[in-house]
Amino acid sequence: MDSIPFNQPSIVGNELEYIRDTVKAGHTASDGSYTERVSEILRDEHHCADVLLTTSCTSALELAALLLEIQPGDRIIVPSFTFVSTALAFARQGAEIVFCDIEPNTLGLDPDHLAELIDGSVRAVIPVHYAGIACEIDSVRRIAEQGDCDIVEDNAHGLFGRYRGQPLGTFGRFSTLSFHETKNFICGEGGALVVNHQADVERAHVLLDKGTNRRAFLLGDVDKYSWQDFGSSFGLSDVLAAYLYGQLERRAEVLRRRRVIFERYQTLLSPHRESLGIRLPELPADRVPAYHMFYVLLPNQDVRDRTLLEMKRRGVTATFHYVPLHSSPGGQRFGVQPASCPVTEEISGRLLRLPFFNTLTESDIDRVVEVLVQVLGE
Ligand SMILES: *Cc1c(COP(=O)(O)O)cnc(C)c1O
Repeated sequence: MDSIPFNQPSIVGNELEYIRDTVKAGHTASDGSYTERVSEILRDEHHCADVLLTTSCTSALELAALLLEIQPGDRIIVPSFTFVSTALAFARQGAEIVFCDIEPNTLGLDPDHLAELIDGSVRAVIPVHYAGIACEIDSVRRIAEQGDCDIVEDNAHGLFGRYRGQPLGTFGRFSTLSFHETKNFICGEGGALVVNHQADVERAHVLLDKGTNRRAFLLGDVDKYSWQDFGSSFGLSDVLAAYLYGQLERRAEVLRRRRVIFERYQTLLSPHRESLGIRLPELPADRVPAYHMFYVLLPNQDVRDRTLLEMKRRGVTATFHYVPLHSSPGGQRFGVQPASCPVTEEISGRLLRLPFFNTLTESDIDRVVEVLVQVLGE
């Protein structure tokens, strides 16, 4: 029997045709026709001022940090349970990183801890919707507003998810997306900055395009373009936008498929919860998930580590997830210490992610569950 990988990127529609199309037409730099088509889908989803495609979610976060003019000594708050980039993009501007713990049900920012951490030196809060399930974003927003801080949602997992009917990515000044090959919709490496306020749009384009007002020039607003501001080369190539458009065009199908996978895991594993002492993701009734992944919380870290090895030996690749940022060497160097995130530490040791990709079949899922239940039962 073939082993089941953790992730397997797939072609879901006309990606290859569209890529050929851009290369043949000769517009392969950023800002081409596929960039516009993708941006339109994402603007519709977010009902926002604008969406700018970037080379990655990391660069979209860097662009947000530049737009917020984060300076050395400013503080920003991130969950300790997240990917490095959530913090890195701001540390790069000299920000001091304050690590917030997560709440045990959604694995998103814990509002109570957040309220304790906020003070006058905090400029921004960066929530993550872990696994594509919204965190308590209304409470997070209220606390950030009281503290006069901006919100930048790191929405790498949550595209097309909802919180009380509202699209994830629309709760703050900016949000960021990832189209890395491990995400729901992919183009190899790619990302986007969602700009929720009209006042930020023009400057976002200048910073994206090497600090120039080239966009104003292309729109006919100025008769030549020149260096205006700081910035970098953050724009996504239209070749990759074409790849991404092929994926996003099939978004309904992809989401449906991922929902089926999620629900099959949930249904097959639910009866074993008590006997195996495991916990499954909770879906609060007021949220629509983006079905980014499926995780299981095992009784403790020893069991988790042994289960990973033993599943691998039986042909199923499961994996752990984030090492708490506050205790990592980078977190020690760039973070405000001491940081206390006991839930993050506990969850990080117990969490195991199961294979999750569009072409995973029903019988693959059954086999993954069978192996997991077998290993845990021994
Ligand atoms: C994947 C991921 C990123 C980084 O995305 P890139 O597009 O690879 O830069 C950032 N934050 C979170 C939460 C992620 O999962």
